[in-house]
Amino acid sequence: MSEETTVSPCQSCGACCASFRVDFHPAELAGGRFAWGQGVPHSLSVPVTACIVRMAGTDRAAPRCVALDGEIGLAVRCTIYAERPSPCREFDTEHSACNRARQRHGLPPL
Ligand code: SF4
Ligand code: SF4
Repeated sequence: MSEETTVSPCQSCGACCASFRVDFHPAELAGGRFAWGQGVPHSLSVPVTACIVRMAGTDRAAPRCVALDGEIGLAVRCTIYAERPSPCREFDTEHSACNRARQRHGLPPL
């Protein structure tokens, strides 16, 4: 008998969380009108304009979202998964930039 388990490749990747800027509308912050769950904690974001906030750490020369825990390519998790902003919800392994992010971190394409 074989047991089938499905493990997302994202759980051992995290490359996209350490490759791109993650910008979203302030209404997705905690207390905001369009917040998922409790909303993104203000302390993990930086203001950009009146209409844009950014996940802290994602605009560094070597980007890495402050909400990412773990080691890229081994085991990672988003510490605000239920509250993560819309760009993170829209990005997955089907996204054309997924393999670009993986390549950036020396990971093989999916
Ligand atoms: S780069 Fe692709 S595989 Fe890696 S975490 Fe992001 S969506 Fe998942
Ligand atoms: S909020 Fe979570 S899913 Fe989005 S970039 Fe940061 S660690 Fe990744």
